Amino acid sequence: MKPRLLLIHVGGTIGMAAGSRGFMPQPGFLLEQLDRMPEIQHPEMPSYELMESSPLLDSSNMTPSDWLPIAQTIQSNYAEFDGFVVLHGTDTMAYTASALPLMLRGLRKPVILTGSQIPLCQIRNDARENLITAMMIAGYYRVPEVCLYFAGRLLRGCRSTKMSAHRFEAFDSPNYPWLGVAGTSIEINEAALLPITWDEQPLQVQRLTPPNIGTLRLFPGITAAVVEHFLDQPLEGLVLEAYGSGNLPSNNRPLLELLDRACQRGVVIVAVTQCGHGKVCFGDYETGRAMGDAGVISGRDMTVEAALTKLFYLHSLQREKAEIRSLVEQNLVGELSE
Ligand code: ASP
Repeated sequence: MKPRLLLIHVGGTIGMAAGSRGFMPQPGFLLEQLDRMPEIQHPEMPSYELMESSPLLDSSNMTPSDWLPIAQTIQSNYAEFDGFVVLHGTDTMAYTASALPLMLRGLRKPVILTGSQIPLCQIRNDARENLITAMMIAGYYRVPEVCLYFAGRLLRGCRSTKMSAHRFEAFDSPNYPWLGVAGTSIEINEAALLPITWDEQPLQVQRLTPPNIGTLRLFPGITAAVVEHFLDQPLEGLVLEAYGSGNLPSNNRPLLELLDRACQRGVVIVAVTQCGHGKVCFGDYETGRAMGDAGVISGRDMTVEAALTKLFYLHSLQREKAEIRSLVEQNLVGELSE
Protein backbone atom coordinates (compact mmCIF):
# COMPACT_ATOMS: atom_id res chain seq x y z
CA MET A 1 0.00 0.00 0.00
CA LYS A 2 1.18 3.50 -0.79
CA PRO A 3 2.15 5.68 2.17
CA ARG A 4 -0.39 8.36 2.96
CA LEU A 5 0.71 11.89 3.66
CA LEU A 6 -1.05 14.89 5.06
CA LEU A 7 0.12 18.14 3.50
CA ILE A 8 -0.62 21.03 5.83
CA HIS A 9 -0.49 24.28 3.92
CA VAL A 10 -0.10 27.23 6.28
CA GLY A 11 1.06 29.79 3.71
CA GLY A 12 4.35 31.15 2.41
CA THR A 13 5.84 31.76 -1.00
CA ILE A 14 5.44 28.17 -2.18
CA GLY A 15 1.68 28.56 -2.71
CA MET A 16 1.51 32.29 -3.37
CA ALA A 17 0.04 34.01 -6.39
CA ALA A 18 1.10 37.36 -7.85
CA GLY A 19 -1.18 40.16 -6.60
CA SER A 20 -1.23 43.92 -6.99
CA ARG A 21 1.01 44.35 -3.89
CA GLY A 22 3.47 41.53 -4.59
CA PHE A 23 3.20 37.81 -3.91
CA MET A 24 0.39 36.92 -1.55
CA PRO A 25 -1.19 33.71 -0.27
CA GLN A 26 -4.40 32.81 -2.11
CA PRO A 27 -6.83 30.17 -0.82
CA GLY A 28 -7.25 27.14 -3.07
CA PHE A 29 -4.44 28.20 -5.41
CA LEU A 30 -1.90 25.57 -4.34
CA LEU A 31 -4.38 22.71 -4.55
CA GLU A 32 -5.36 23.77 -8.07
CA GLN A 33 -1.72 23.64 -9.10
CA LEU A 34 -1.03 20.28 -7.43
CA ASP A 35 -4.01 18.77 -9.20
CA ARG A 36 -2.48 19.78 -12.51
CA MET A 37 1.01 18.38 -11.78
CA PRO A 38 1.40 14.90 -13.27
CA GLU A 39 4.59 14.29 -11.24
CA ILE A 40 2.70 14.71 -7.95
CA GLN A 41 0.06 12.24 -9.16
CA HIS A 42 2.78 9.78 -10.35
CA PRO A 43 2.27 6.19 -9.09
CA GLU A 44 5.65 6.32 -7.32
CA MET A 45 4.61 9.30 -5.22
CA PRO A 46 2.94 8.79 -1.85
CA SER A 47 -0.76 9.58 -1.86
CA TYR A 48 -1.72 12.79 -0.12
CA GLU A 49 -4.45 14.97 1.21
CA LEU A 50 -4.03 18.71 1.45
CA MET A 51 -5.36 20.75 4.36
CA GLU A 52 -5.20 24.46 4.06
CA SER A 53 -5.10 26.88 6.99
CA SER A 54 -7.49 29.75 7.04
CA PRO A 55 -6.26 32.39 6.68
CA LEU A 56 -3.11 31.42 4.81
CA LEU A 57 -0.26 33.49 6.15
CA ASP A 58 2.96 35.00 4.97
CA SER A 59 5.14 33.53 7.72
CA SER A 60 6.26 37.03 8.73
CA ASN A 61 2.70 37.45 10.00
CA MET A 62 2.79 34.28 12.11
CA THR A 63 2.92 34.28 15.90
CA PRO A 64 3.34 31.40 18.38
CA SER A 65 -0.44 31.03 18.44
CA ASP A 66 -0.24 29.89 14.80
CA TRP A 67 2.01 26.96 15.79
CA LEU A 68 -0.70 25.32 17.89
CA PRO A 69 -3.15 24.55 15.03
CA ILE A 70 -0.27 22.91 13.12
CA ALA A 71 0.54 20.67 16.09
CA GLN A 72 -3.15 19.94 16.70
CA THR A 73 -3.75 19.06 13.04
CA ILE A 74 -0.88 16.57 13.22
CA GLN A 75 -2.24 15.14 16.46
CA SER A 76 -5.82 14.72 15.27
CA ASN A 77 -4.72 13.07 12.01
CA TYR A 78 -1.82 11.13 13.48
CA ALA A 79 -3.26 7.63 13.20
CA GLU A 80 -4.53 8.12 9.66
CA PHE A 81 -1.31 9.25 7.96
CA ASP A 82 2.23 7.93 7.68
CA GLY A 83 3.89 11.32 7.52
CA PHE A 84 3.24 15.05 7.48
CA VAL A 85 4.58 17.80 5.24
CA VAL A 86 4.06 21.35 6.44
CA LEU A 87 4.13 23.94 3.64
CA HIS A 88 5.30 27.12 5.29
CA GLY A 89 6.87 30.49 4.49
CA THR A 90 10.63 30.59 4.79
CA ASP A 91 10.93 33.78 6.88
CA THR A 92 9.93 32.19 10.17
CA MET A 93 10.09 28.52 9.20
CA ALA A 94 13.07 27.88 11.50
CA TYR A 95 11.09 29.24 14.48
CA THR A 96 8.14 26.92 13.77
CA ALA A 97 10.57 24.04 13.13
CA SER A 98 12.18 24.74 16.51
CA ALA A 99 8.89 25.00 18.40
CA LEU A 100 7.14 21.93 16.97
CA PRO A 101 9.52 19.29 18.42
CA LEU A 102 8.86 20.75 21.87
CA MET A 103 5.11 20.85 21.29
CA LEU A 104 4.76 17.35 19.77
CA ARG A 105 5.65 14.99 22.59
CA GLY A 106 5.93 11.35 21.55
CA LEU A 107 6.37 11.92 17.82
CA ARG A 108 7.32 8.77 15.91
CA LYS A 109 6.45 9.81 12.35
CA PRO A 110 8.14 12.28 9.99
CA VAL A 111 7.02 15.89 10.12
CA ILE A 112 8.81 17.81 7.37
CA LEU A 113 8.56 21.54 6.92
CA THR A 114 9.32 22.93 3.50
CA GLY A 115 8.61 25.93 1.33
CA SER A 116 10.37 27.77 -1.44
CA GLN A 117 12.07 30.96 -2.49
CA ILE A 118 10.03 31.16 -5.72
CA PRO A 119 6.34 30.21 -5.88
CA LEU A 120 5.26 27.01 -7.58
CA CYS A 121 3.26 29.06 -10.10
CA GLN A 122 6.44 30.57 -11.59
CA ILE A 123 8.12 28.77 -14.47
CA ARG A 124 11.54 28.80 -12.82
CA ASN A 125 11.07 27.75 -9.21
CA ASP A 126 12.54 25.72 -6.36
CA ALA A 127 9.10 24.80 -5.04
CA ARG A 128 8.64 21.74 -7.22
CA GLU A 129 11.82 19.98 -6.07
CA ASN A 130 11.38 20.93 -2.42
CA LEU A 131 7.82 19.65 -2.40
CA ILE A 132 8.44 16.40 -4.26
CA THR A 133 11.52 15.45 -2.22
CA ALA A 134 9.92 16.42 1.10
CA MET A 135 6.96 14.19 0.18
CA MET A 136 9.26 11.32 -0.82
CA ILE A 137 11.19 11.55 2.45
CA ALA A 138 8.05 11.83 4.58
CA GLY A 139 6.51 8.86 2.76
CA TYR A 140 9.38 6.45 2.29
CA TYR A 141 12.08 7.17 4.89
CA ARG A 142 12.23 6.57 8.60
CA VAL A 143 12.85 10.02 10.05
CA PRO A 144 10.72 10.14 13.17
CA GLU A 145 11.31 13.76 14.03
CA VAL A 146 10.51 17.33 12.99
CA CYS A 147 12.76 18.19 10.04
CA LEU A 148 13.16 20.98 7.57
CA TYR A 149 13.82 20.05 3.96
CA PHE A 150 15.17 22.64 1.54
CA ALA A 151 17.37 22.51 -1.56
CA GLY A 152 18.74 19.02 -1.10
CA ARG A 153 19.28 19.31 2.66
CA LEU A 154 17.31 17.52 5.31
CA LEU A 155 17.91 19.34 8.58
CA ARG A 156 16.82 18.83 12.15
CA GLY A 157 14.09 21.43 12.63
CA CYS A 158 15.35 22.73 15.95
CA ARG A 159 18.90 23.13 14.57
CA SER A 160 17.87 24.96 11.42
CA THR A 161 18.25 28.62 10.60
CA LYS A 162 17.56 30.74 7.54
CA MET A 163 20.89 31.74 6.00
CA SER A 164 19.91 33.37 2.74
CA ALA A 165 17.07 35.60 1.58
CA HIS A 166 17.73 34.82 -2.07
CA ARG A 167 19.68 31.61 -2.60
CA PHE A 168 17.87 28.35 -3.13
CA GLU A 169 20.11 26.93 -0.36
CA ALA A 170 18.25 29.09 2.13
CA PHE A 171 18.67 26.96 5.26
CA ASP A 172 21.44 25.26 7.13
CA SER A 173 22.05 23.70 10.54
CA PRO A 174 25.54 25.04 11.24
CA ASN A 175 25.97 23.27 14.56
CA TYR A 176 24.55 19.88 13.65
CA PRO A 177 25.14 17.46 10.77
CA TRP A 178 22.47 17.33 8.07
CA LEU A 179 20.00 14.51 8.65
CA GLY A 180 20.05 13.72 4.97
CA VAL A 181 21.11 14.80 1.53
CA ALA A 182 19.01 14.58 -1.61
CA GLY A 183 21.27 14.47 -4.65
CA THR A 184 21.09 11.81 -7.32
CA SER A 185 19.77 9.63 -4.51
CA ILE A 186 18.31 10.37 -1.10
CA GLU A 187 20.76 9.48 1.67
CA ILE A 188 19.66 9.59 5.30
CA ASN A 189 22.33 10.11 7.96
CA GLU A 190 20.93 7.50 10.36
CA ALA A 191 23.57 8.21 13.01
CA ALA A 192 22.40 11.81 13.30
CA LEU A 193 18.71 10.98 13.88
CA LEU A 194 17.14 11.18 17.31
CA PRO A 195 16.88 7.81 19.01
CA ILE A 196 13.25 6.89 19.62
CA THR A 197 12.83 7.07 23.35
CA TRP A 198 9.08 7.49 23.46
CA ASP A 199 7.02 4.51 24.53
CA GLU A 200 4.02 3.64 22.45
CA GLN A 201 2.14 6.52 24.01
CA PRO A 202 -0.34 8.69 22.19
CA LEU A 203 1.06 11.88 20.71
CA GLN A 204 0.65 14.77 23.13
CA VAL A 205 0.52 18.43 22.22
CA GLN A 206 2.05 20.93 24.62
CA ARG A 207 0.45 24.35 24.27
CA LEU A 208 2.77 27.32 24.41
CA THR A 209 1.57 30.31 26.33
CA PRO A 210 4.11 32.82 25.09
CA PRO A 211 5.41 34.81 28.03
CA ASN A 212 7.26 38.09 27.79
CA ILE A 213 10.46 36.89 26.20
CA GLY A 214 12.88 38.83 24.03
CA THR A 215 16.15 38.64 22.17
CA LEU A 216 18.91 41.21 22.34
CA ARG A 217 22.02 41.34 20.20
CA LEU A 218 25.11 42.89 21.79
CA PHE A 219 27.05 45.43 19.75
CA PRO A 220 30.11 47.57 20.49
CA GLY A 221 28.98 50.61 22.44
CA ILE A 222 25.67 49.19 23.69
CA THR A 223 24.66 51.33 26.63
CA ALA A 224 23.35 50.29 30.02
CA ALA A 225 20.45 52.71 29.49
CA VAL A 226 19.26 50.82 26.41
CA VAL A 227 19.61 47.47 28.15
CA GLU A 228 17.88 48.78 31.26
CA HIS A 229 14.72 49.53 29.29
CA PHE A 230 14.90 46.16 27.65
CA LEU A 231 15.24 44.33 30.96
CA ASP A 232 12.39 46.24 32.53
CA GLN A 233 9.27 44.48 33.74
CA PRO A 234 7.48 42.46 32.45
CA LEU A 235 10.42 40.66 30.82
CA GLU A 236 10.60 37.01 31.97
CA GLY A 237 13.25 35.61 29.68
CA LEU A 238 15.93 36.87 27.34
CA VAL A 239 18.07 35.33 24.63
CA LEU A 240 21.25 37.37 24.67
CA GLU A 241 23.23 37.18 21.44
CA ALA A 242 26.73 37.47 22.78
CA TYR A 243 30.03 37.81 20.96
CA GLY A 244 32.06 34.80 19.86
CA SER A 245 32.21 32.02 22.43
CA GLY A 246 29.88 33.91 24.78
CA ASN A 247 31.53 37.21 25.62
CA LEU A 248 30.33 40.67 26.55
CA PRO A 249 32.04 43.96 27.41
CA SER A 250 33.14 43.09 30.96
CA ASN A 251 34.49 46.62 31.38
CA ASN A 252 30.92 47.93 31.22
CA ARG A 253 30.13 47.54 34.92
CA PRO A 254 26.66 49.13 34.77
CA LEU A 255 25.69 46.61 32.07
CA LEU A 256 26.90 43.67 34.16
CA GLU A 257 25.09 44.96 37.23
CA LEU A 258 21.86 45.25 35.25
CA LEU A 259 22.17 41.66 34.04
CA ASP A 260 22.98 40.50 37.56
CA ARG A 261 19.96 42.27 39.02
CA ALA A 262 17.66 40.95 36.31
CA CYS A 263 18.83 37.37 36.93
CA GLN A 264 18.29 37.79 40.65
CA ARG A 265 14.79 39.10 39.94
CA GLY A 266 14.08 35.82 38.10
CA VAL A 267 14.58 36.83 34.47
CA VAL A 268 16.04 33.78 32.71
CA ILE A 269 18.85 35.11 30.52
CA VAL A 270 20.34 32.66 28.03
CA ALA A 271 23.46 33.49 26.06
CA VAL A 272 23.92 32.19 22.53
CA THR A 273 26.64 33.14 20.11
CA GLN A 274 25.93 35.73 17.47
CA CYS A 275 28.34 33.86 15.16
CA GLY A 276 26.80 31.65 12.54
CA HIS A 277 28.63 28.64 13.92
CA GLY A 278 30.03 27.56 17.30
CA LYS A 279 29.02 27.52 20.92
CA VAL A 280 29.01 29.50 24.12
CA CYS A 281 31.78 28.60 26.52
CA PHE A 282 31.98 31.08 29.38
CA GLY A 283 35.32 29.72 30.57
CA ASP A 284 37.28 30.76 27.49
CA TYR A 285 37.72 34.46 28.31
CA GLU A 286 37.40 36.81 31.24
CA THR A 287 34.71 38.61 29.22
CA GLY A 288 32.74 35.36 29.16
CA ARG A 289 33.28 34.50 32.79
CA ALA A 290 31.87 37.90 33.74
CA MET A 291 28.63 36.96 32.05
CA GLY A 292 28.43 33.61 33.83
CA ASP A 293 29.16 35.37 37.14
CA ALA A 294 26.25 37.72 36.50
CA GLY A 295 23.91 34.71 36.39
CA VAL A 296 23.50 34.38 32.64
CA ILE A 297 23.03 30.75 31.52
CA SER A 298 24.90 29.22 28.61
CA GLY A 299 22.72 28.33 25.65
CA ARG A 300 25.69 26.29 24.31
CA ASP A 301 25.25 25.75 20.58
CA MET A 302 21.54 26.51 20.28
CA THR A 303 20.32 28.74 17.49
CA VAL A 304 18.48 31.90 18.48
CA GLU A 305 15.30 30.27 17.19
CA ALA A 306 15.82 27.18 19.35
CA ALA A 307 16.74 29.18 22.47
CA LEU A 308 13.75 31.48 22.09
CA THR A 309 11.19 28.73 21.51
CA LYS A 310 12.71 26.71 24.35
CA LEU A 311 12.14 29.65 26.68
CA PHE A 312 8.53 29.87 25.44
CA TYR A 313 8.14 26.16 26.12
CA LEU A 314 9.77 26.06 29.55
CA HIS A 315 7.78 29.06 30.75
CA SER A 316 4.60 27.41 29.46
CA LEU A 317 5.27 24.42 31.71
CA GLN A 318 5.03 26.83 34.63
CA ARG A 319 7.99 25.37 36.47
CA GLU A 320 10.05 27.03 39.15
CA LYS A 321 12.72 29.40 37.84
CA ALA A 322 15.53 27.19 39.14
CA GLU A 323 14.15 24.24 37.19
CA ILE A 324 13.74 26.34 34.04
CA ARG A 325 17.37 27.47 34.38
CA SER A 326 18.57 23.91 34.68
CA LEU A 327 16.40 22.62 31.79
CA VAL A 328 17.70 25.37 29.48
CA GLU A 329 21.12 23.73 29.58
CA GLN A 330 19.79 20.21 29.02
CA ASN A 331 19.16 18.61 25.68
CA LEU A 332 15.40 18.10 25.42
CA VAL A 333 14.70 17.31 21.76
CA GLY A 334 18.08 17.44 20.05
CA GLU A 335 18.29 21.24 20.11
CA LEU A 336 21.74 21.41 21.78
CA SER A 337 24.90 19.37 22.16
CA GLU A 338 25.67 18.59 25.78
N1 ASP B 1 7.64 36.16 3.18
C1 ASP B 1 7.55 34.77 2.78
C2 ASP B 1 7.10 33.96 3.98
O1 ASP B 1 7.87 33.73 4.86
C3 ASP B 1 8.89 34.29 2.30
C4 ASP B 1 8.94 32.87 1.82
O2 ASP B 1 8.05 32.06 2.02
O3 ASP B 1 9.97 32.51 1.20
O4 ASP B 1 5.95 33.57 4.06
